[in-house]
Amino acid sequence: MSNKTRNFAFISHGGAGKTVLTEMCLYNSKKIEKPGSIDEGNTRSDFTPEEKEHKYSIVNSYFNFSWKDNNINLIDTPGYADFKGEVASALKIVEGAVLLIDGTAGIEVNTNYVWKMAEENEISRFVFINKMDKEGAKFPEVYSELNEKFSENFVPLTVPYKIGDEYKGVINLLNNKFIDISDNKQKEIPDEAADFAAEYRMELMEATVELDDELMMKYLEDEEISDKELMDVLVNGVKSRRLVPLMAGSALENSGVKVFLDNLVRLVPNAEYYNTIKGTYDGEETEVETNEDAPFVGMIAKTMVDPYIGKLSIFRLYSGKLDTSCQIYVPRLDTTLKTNKFYKINGSEQETVDELVAGDIGAVAKMDELETSDTISADDVKIELAKIKFPEPMLTKAVEPISEGDEEKLSASLQRISLEDTTFKVDYNKETKQQLVTAMGTVHMSVIKDLCQRKFDVSFNTVDPKVAYRETLRKKTEVEEKYKKQSGGRGQYGHVLMRLEPLPRGKGFVFEEEIFGGAIPNQYIPAVEKGVRESMGEGVLAGYPVVDFKAVVYDGSYHSVDSSEMAFKIAASKAFKNGLKIAKPVLLEPIMNVEVVVPENYMGDIMGDLYSRRGKIMGMDPGDGVQRIKAKVPQGEMFNYASDLKSITGGYGRFSMEFSHYDKVPSDSAEKIIKESKKEE
Ligand code: GDP
Repeated sequence: MSNKTRNFAFISHGGAGKTVLTEMCLYNSKKIEKPGSIDEGNTRSDFTPEEKEHKYSIVNSYFNFSWKDNNINLIDTPGYADFKGEVASALKIVEGAVLLIDGTAGIEVNTNYVWKMAEENEISRFVFINKMDKEGAKFPEVYSELNEKFSENFVPLTVPYKIGDEYKGVINLLNNKFIDISDNKQKEIPDEAADFAAEYRMELMEATVELDDELMMKYLEDEEISDKELMDVLVNGVKSRRLVPLMAGSALENSGVKVFLDNLVRLVPNAEYYNTIKGTYDGEETEVETNEDAPFVGMIAKTMVDPYIGKLSIFRLYSGKLDTSCQIYVPRLDTTLKTNKFYKINGSEQETVDELVAGDIGAVAKMDELETSDTISADDVKIELAKIKFPEPMLTKAVEPISEGDEEKLSASLQRISLEDTTFKVDYNKETKQQLVTAMGTVHMSVIKDLCQRKFDVSFNTVDPKVAYRETLRKKTEVEEKYKKQSGGRGQYGHVLMRLEPLPRGKGFVFEEEIFGGAIPNQYIPAVEKGVRESMGEGVLAGYPVVDFKAVVYDGSYHSVDSSEMAFKIAASKAFKNGLKIAKPVLLEPIMNVEVVVPENYMGDIMGDLYSRRGKIMGMDPGDGVQRIKAKVPQGEMFNYASDLKSITGGYGRFSMEFSHYDKVPSDSAEKIIKESKKEE
């Protein structure tokens, strides 16, 4: 039943303990008999060969279990920044996000990032400070750090009793009991912890009563506040996203985990909580009811290929019921499709189910037409849900197969991978004749390499992409070319006088004729134009296409027998090449509009780095502790920016980039490029 379904995701910086906590949730709910361990590589979350090898999550893992009569869907997301596309997909389909923090490390780079992603999804948020048993763990410090760095109203619900080697368990502030690590039983709070517990309990009270005038009055007048009264306001505060509950414990020791689950089932809004879901229909905003009896509406959060089942599309059902008798309407395709088998997923295992109901997260097999972010619905529902907002990948490389002749196989394999992974893009650059791939970062790229090798048996190397340089001319020039051959029979005769003129950037190529008195008959003029067009694909400096110029044929002569289209084409082509040589040719390079967003303290380093890439700073825009720096930078200097920015800012920076225009390459760089191109030839 949807009002008993709770969907939440674990998010964090890598290594905070999501995989272990997931394992313990499954264990406590009796879904599994024995928790697996990271070291032995047998956890339920990390089951793909790549995950086992790297010992961190790469893709989301989906679980379904019950906790005290509640039907729970839990998504364990990867913590590595390169895989935040998965986090985006998970957060789209849940009502709650639990941020895990490694209690020995505090707030880390990706902690910030995933926290903001959860905020943007407007879902209820929770914090679990983990590893309270580990040497070097801190609790009050991490709690203060959260209050300093984030603006949310945190309310403590469980706090650790002692820490590190001496860690003894957690205190449940809602019922004032101590939960002993040795037997996970509830006990009275030990005397020595009483004051400390009372202080945190007061914080819990104060943050909560603030949301309710009546309760506030009672509190101020020292009247008794019942647990129920407190809980009601707390539940409301969390669901309306005004309060963020904070809990602590040790996933590894399975301490504080049961009370954590108890709190989640009380506080994560159930799947029916919002009553409606918004979307668009025919360009207009609209919404539909979300309950089990309404027609079904769902969203595809992810597609993947299972070795046994084939294509699996994972989706969240927001409304209605879905079984194999249903037809699925897909607004993107404006088509109705037949369904196939439905599953609930638990890590690497799928369990066939007859029916899914509103609130469920499940999967459907072998519906090849479905794509990530697709809305699926009954035929008579008129809504398309907003698509998942995926982060843009930024690290572009050219790929070359290790075995010659594998080009096509490689390209097909990469295409297949990009269908499953929305943050991996594949592109072929016709001009440079390179297969390009764009990933989130170097780690993502190396995972793709492994995947390609294992799944498709093809390996590749990555190199920096070639830049699509151009050539142009700077001086108005006149040239004359006569192409004449007389060798027995019919000869060849074409004679042109041509003017080459530079045009402003971006104007491409213009051809004109100014022939008077039939010096060249009309019928040969198109051949003259063709001669120029066919030669402008290769400039005289380094063989790049020539752009932004005008070619004007203004005079010439012909021979009534020997002239032909071919002869005029050759003459025009030679005229153009010779003219170009004396028209002060230059190399042009693509310049990108770059926008970098970094915390203020990195601004100096970022500007220095952009200057060293021949960048021009166009402006700066401060706000909210960050600086937004706009610059124009040559594309050739930007290929490794994704990795370099990460190392300069320790991962705190992000950037975006798009083509702006072509501009002249400074002469020292041009010399290098010309030399390189000669070498390649
Ligand atoms: P994830 O990247 O968030 O999934 O983190 P993992 O669950 O893979 O945990 C990272 C490391 O921290 C592993 O070596 C775990 O054994 C360890 N770890 C996780 N939770 C705890 C904990 O509560 N206490 C201690 N001491 N170690 C933990």
